[in-house]
Amino acid sequence: MTDCIFCKIADKQIPASVVYEDDEMLCFKDIRPAAPVHLLLIPKEHFDSLAHAGPPHEALLGKMMLKVPQLAAEHGLRNGFKTQINTGSGGGQEVFHLHVHIMGTPV
Ligand code: 5GP
Ligand code: ZN
Repeated sequence: MTDCIFCKIADKQIPASVVYEDDEMLCFKDIRPAAPVHLLLIPKEHFDSLAHAGPPHEALLGKMMLKVPQLAAEHGLRNGFKTQINTGSGGGQEVFHLHVHIMGTPV
């Protein structure tokens, strides 16, 4: 049993505003949004950070990167958006389950 909060969101043990889900990834709204649209895209498989990813994650990470602009467009971020992946405590990471921040203002 993991104590990882994002694993619990992926397992539906705790609620989140989920906006996209498939077999491999989940996207939900950040609970403390730093922008009018602030989404988090996570792999369902737990790994702590980008620094813990390896060759087996290559295809998954590629699929996630390609999903980012689709999710941004679906949330009205047609003028552009920011992506952020914090890695390690020195990189400002607070939740140690890899996640991509997608942030912007709808136009
Ligand atoms: P980090 O600093 O690790 O890159 O970002 C973690 C993000 O997760 C923060 O922006 C924070 O607001 C968000 N977060 C933390 N706990 C929860 C939660 O329980 N639900 C949701 N939806 N977001 C969370
Ligand atoms: Zn996890």
